[in-house]
Amino acid sequence: MKAFCTSLFVFIALLIQVSVCFSQDMTRVRKVIGALSAPNMHGRSPAFEGDRKAATYIESLFRTAGLQPASQSFLQHFSYDTQIFPKKMSLTINGKKMQPGIDFIIDPVSSSGKGKAEILYLDSTFFLYKEKRTAVDCKNKAVVYDQKYYAQLNELPLEVIQNIYSAACLIEYNHAKLTMGIASKPLSVPIFKLGKMDADFLKSGKCSFQLTAQWKKDYPSQNVVGMIKGSLQPDTFIVFSAHYDHLGHLGKKTYFPGANDNASGISMLNELAHYYNESAHQPAYSILFIAFGAEEAGLIGSNYFTQHPLVPLKQIKFLLNMDIVGTGDESITVVNGTEYPTRFAGLDSLNKANHLLPAVVKRGKAANSDHYFFTQKGVPAFFIYTNGKQKAYHDVFDRAETLPLSKYGELFTLFTLFVKTL
Ligand SMILES: [Zn+2]
Repeated sequence: MKAFCTSLFVFIALLIQVSVCFSQDMTRVRKVIGALSAPNMHGRSPAFEGDRKAATYIESLFRTAGLQPASQSFLQHFSYDTQIFPKKMSLTINGKKMQPGIDFIIDPVSSSGKGKAEILYLDSTFFLYKEKRTAVDCKNKAVVYDQKYYAQLNELPLEVIQNIYSAACLIEYNHAKLTMGIASKPLSVPIFKLGKMDADFLKSGKCSFQLTAQWKKDYPSQNVVGMIKGSLQPDTFIVFSAHYDHLGHLGKKTYFPGANDNASGISMLNELAHYYNESAHQPAYSILFIAFGAEEAGLIGSNYFTQHPLVPLKQIKFLLNMDIVGTGDESITVVNGTEYPTRFAGLDSLNKANHLLPAVVKRGKAANSDHYFFTQKGVPAFFIYTNGKQKAYHDVFDRAETLPLSKYGELFTLFTLFVKTL
């Protein structure tokens, strides 16, 4: 009986071993997402060269997974202009010290600024009623207004806008969510964004602040590109892509981990690379694995690739871009689903037949990730992102520890099944 038990145990263990070898490895997934989201990656932007550290790490992942470089090297270099905020940052209003990332973020177009200023509160009459607009002098003041008047601000007469921009700093409050971005052109004033708060606290008094913006001209960045040669038609390509860059720092200590956006996508690339490198899964077509840089700054790495393709774009049969794939407990969305209805129907029926994700939702064209410039050049592509209860996005809460990865294995399976149908 004991012997039987042991051999049954060995048999089951072998089965598990086989399934682990030939699909995604969740321990490795957690490790890769953790490494990319760690403090020493600095939010994977030019701040402290976090993007370069991430690219070097991804190159080592690609080598370990057995990929070949798609050209002489794994790296495709390009450069771009951007603004970063890796230096000391502070904001104190009426004695309350605000925490970067938690109580405030900055507008990425902010300029540097430092000092103490008296608060000047602009209420609704200033923005909405020209006849009631009192003459105010914003020069050297901390100008405070509700973020809902931001659109009106830009429609004010030029001399009023110039007056507002002569402020020491601007403070927008009542943002429902503090969502960070990246700017390629700076303005001439520091702009702080606060969440929901009591307006009375902000209507008068004093503020002190410090913000240093660093302008990077022609900052050298890179895409990381690896490939597996196809067994039957090596000159036809399937592309898996995901961006690795994120939003960098908000001051010296606070950084944006970007676990869901998009360490989750890079880790999925890595798992797919391991899978297709297994001799049992060698693909008929060649597969390109592209980790794009500078997506958050405006799809810059992928735009560069489409202008300087390492394989002819016409020979790409299909591109699957993955960005924000760490949830999925609600659904996945397929951008370009309506552009390629037959492919979408195929994906949807594979999902249903194999009971993978709760729902597959289609969407039209959108310039919201790295598939976009490929689509514009006629390369058939889907961009897939996951939807779930965890809503952290472009904020300091997008952390590896709290990323659920609820349907990660199911999504991996869906990708591999879909590729078989191409
Ligand atoms: Zn993203």
